[in-house]
Amino acid sequence: MKYTSTRGNTREFTASEAIVRGLAPDGGLFVPCELPSLSREDLRSLMPLSYPERAARVMKLFLDEFSTDELGLFCFDAYNEARFGGAPAPVVRRGGLYLELWHGPTCAFKDMALQMLPRLLFASLQKCGGSEGALILTATSGDTGKAALEGFRGVKNTKIMVFYPLGGVSEIQKLQMTTQQGENVRVMAVRGNFDDAQSGVKRILSDAALSNAALGHGWRFSSANSINWGRLLPQIAYYVSAYLDCAASGALEFGGELDVCVPTGNFGNILAAYYAKKMGVPIGRLVCASNSNNVLTDFIRTGVYDRRRDFHMTVSPSMDILVSSNLERLLYELSGDAALVSSLMSRLSDEGFYSVPDTIREEIGRLFRAGFCSDAETLGTVRDVWREHGYLIDTHTAVAEHVRREYLAGDGKGRTTLVVSTASPYKFCGAVLNALGVDAPDGEGVQLIEKLHEVTGVNPPLQLTALGRIPERFREVCLPSEMAQKVMDFAEGR
Ligand SMILES: *Cc1c(COP(=O)(O)O)cnc(C)c1O
Repeated sequence: MKYTSTRGNTREFTASEAIVRGLAPDGGLFVPCELPSLSREDLRSLMPLSYPERAARVMKLFLDEFSTDELGLFCFDAYNEARFGGAPAPVVRRGGLYLELWHGPTCAFKDMALQMLPRLLFASLQKCGGSEGALILTATSGDTGKAALEGFRGVKNTKIMVFYPLGGVSEIQKLQMTTQQGENVRVMAVRGNFDDAQSGVKRILSDAALSNAALGHGWRFSSANSINWGRLLPQIAYYVSAYLDCAASGALEFGGELDVCVPTGNFGNILAAYYAKKMGVPIGRLVCASNSNNVLTDFIRTGVYDRRRDFHMTVSPSMDILVSSNLERLLYELSGDAALVSSLMSRLSDEGFYSVPDTIREEIGRLFRAGFCSDAETLGTVRDVWREHGYLIDTHTAVAEHVRREYLAGDGKGRTTLVVSTASPYKFCGAVLNALGVDAPDGEGVQLIEKLHEVTGVNPPLQLTALGRIPERFREVCLPSEMAQKVMDFAEGR
C-alpha cells in the first residue's frame, strides 16, 4: 500500500518512508492511497484473538512491506503484560461503556501508539536503507511527551527531544517528563502554550535547511506527534478490538452500530475511529467531545474552523488545543481534493480560519456529533460518576462522559455509545480531588496521589507513586524562537 500527501504535491511513498519522514515534503500529512476493508467475516475471524494478535492483523492491512511475523513480534512486545498489566484495551461497563486505554507505562492512551511507533520507526529506517538515525521531535500538551520518551528511550539509532508548554501541563505530567531516564532523551519547557510548541516543531520539521544540517550530523528529523502515520495506525486497532469486545460481552449484537464518544484535542484518536468505520467496522456516529477550547464543536456544527478565539487553560489540559492537526486528514478523506486541502490550510495559517464547501459540511454532519463542556461541568461529571457508579474517571474522560450524557438525552437517545477513557484519574489528582470536594493545593504533585487513594480507596498506578523518589533531571526553559537552536544543539551532541 502506498501513501500520499494531503496536499498533493508529492510522489507516492511506501509505508516505511511515510513513517520515517513523519510529515510529507509539501508540509501535508501522509494518508493511505486507498483504505483496506474488513468484512463481517474478517471481523469474526479476529474475535477469538488476543489484543496483540488483533492489532498485528489490523496493522498488516496497511503495511505490506512488513511481514506478519514481524508485526506480531512488535505487538506482543509492545502490549505485553509487564507494560500493560494483561489487558491493554479493556471495555468495562460501569453504568455506561468505557474503553480504558490507560493501562500502559505512562497511564494515558498515548501509550497505545507510542509503544508501537518506535518499533515501526526502527524497522522502517532499516527498510529505507539509510545509515542515519532518527531524531524525534515532539510537542506535547502533557501526555504525548512522556509516552514518547518511554517509547523511545534506549531505542538504538534514535534520539528524542520533547517540548512542553511551561505551566500548561499538570504537576504529575511535568514530573513524569522532567524525571525521564535514558541516554537518548531531552526535555525542554517552552514559554508559550501548546499551539506555540506544536507550531515550533512543525516549522523545524518542514525547514529544509535545518533538516539538511541535522542530516550532516547523522540525524534525520522525524516526529512522534499524531501527525505521524505510524502513530495513528496502532490506534485504529483498538477500535476494531473494542467493537469485538462489545459484541462478545453482549453490550450489542454483532453487526449492530456502536457510537463512540471521544475526548478530542488534536483529532488523532477520533480520526482513528473514523478510519475503523470506513474500513467496515460497524461504528455509528463519531461523537467529538471538547472542553472550553471548543473550536471543533463549532466546526462540526457549522463547517467553519476558526482559531481566532481565546485559548483556555482547563482541567483537561491534554485537550487545550486550538489547531487540531489531524483534521487535515479528515478533510482529505472527505473531499479527495488535495488542492482544496492545501488552500484551506494556507487560509488557516494566513487568516486564522476557513470554511468548508457545503458538501463536506453535510457529510461531516452525517458522520459526526459534537459537544463541549466547561470545567465546572467536567468536575461535576467526575463527581457524579463516582457517586453513581463508584467509578473514578479522569477529567478528559469526564468531558466525553458529559457530552455522552447530553447526547443520550437528545439525538443519541437509545443508541449504544462507548466512551473512550483516555487517562488514569491519578494523572490529574488535583482536579479529581477538587471534583470530589477535597482541597488540593496547587503545586503539589505526588502528595496528592496518596490523598486521592485515601479518599477513594482506588489503587494508584505504581508508575506514578514512584515519581516522588526520582530526582528531576530536565529544568531548561526556552522561547519558541529558540527551539530550532536547541534542536541543533541536541543533534550536534551538545
Ligand atoms: C492526547 C489526549 C487527548 C486528545 O487526543 P487527540 O488524539 O489529540 O484528539 C485526550 N485525552 C488525553 C488524556 C490525552 O492525553
